Amino acid sequence: MVLARPKILSEADGDCVGIERIDGRSPVLIVCEHASKTLPASFGDLGLPDEALSSHIAWDPGALAVARGISDGLDATLVYQRFSRLIYDCNRPPSSPGAMPETSEIYAIPGNKDLTAEERLARTDALYVPFHDAIRGLIRDRRARGQDSVIVTIHSFTPVYHGRERAVELGILHDEDSRLADRMLEAAAEAPLYRTERNQPYGPEDGVTHTLILHGLSNGLRNVMIEVRNDLITDDVGQGVMADYLKGLLQQSLDA
Ligand SMILES: [Zn+2]
Repeated sequence: MVLARPKILSEADGDCVGIERIDGRSPVLIVCEHASKTLPASFGDLGLPDEALSSHIAWDPGALAVARGISDGLDATLVYQRFSRLIYDCNRPPSSPGAMPETSEIYAIPGNKDLTAEERLARTDALYVPFHDAIRGLIRDRRARGQDSVIVTIHSFTPVYHGRERAVELGILHDEDSRLADRMLEAAAEAPLYRTERNQPYGPEDGVTHTLILHGLSNGLRNVMIEVRNDLITDDVGQGVMADYLKGLLQQSLDA
C-alpha cells in the first residue's frame, strides 16, 4: 500500500534551507532554527489569528538579524530554516510532541491537531531532514578542507511567558559539553552589558538542546545555544548592538 503523503512545499515556497556565507572562514557555524514565521502556502493560517502568526510561537523575532550580524562580523557561515516552527520545530526530534505542537503557550493550533502519521512524516521529510542534512553536509565539507566547526545556535525568547516577566536578558545554554558556554559566561562576567545566565530561561531538561546534541556533542565539536530576550532586538540598533556583543564574547571564548 502506498500512503498518500501531503505535499508540504510547492515550487513557489522554495527551498526550506537558507545558507549564507557558505565559504566563511570562521570556525563558527551559526544555526538559526526559528528564523522565520513564514508558513508554506498550502497551510493557510493554521486556524490561528494574525497576532499569533507573528508572535514568538511562530518564530524567534530578531534572531535571524542577530545571527546575520554575527555571521558578517566573524565571516561565519549561517544556516537557517526558512519556514515557521509551527509547521516543524527543527530544534526538536520527530518523536517529540513539540516538533509539531498542538498548543504553544496560550494558543491552541487547530492546523496541528490530530495529525496523521503520514502528515507528520511529510512535514519531517520536507523541513527537518533537509535542514539537518544541510548542517551535516557543511560540517563534513569543512572537515574535509581542514576547517574546524563550532556550533552556535541563535534564538530569542519572549519577555513575558504565561503572564510572568522574565528578568534574564541573555541565556547561554549547553548540554553535557559546556566548554564553550563556560568561556562565554566568563567573558560575559568581564563585560556585563546584559543580565546573563547559564541555561536560562530554558535548559537541557526542556529538550532545547537537540541541535547541539545532533551536530555538536555527537561530533565532539564545541557548541553553545544563545537565547536573547526579544524585546532587546526589536530594531536595527538593538540587533546590531547584540550581534556585536555576542561576536565579542565568541571571539574571546574561542581564543581562550
Ligand atoms: Zn528558538
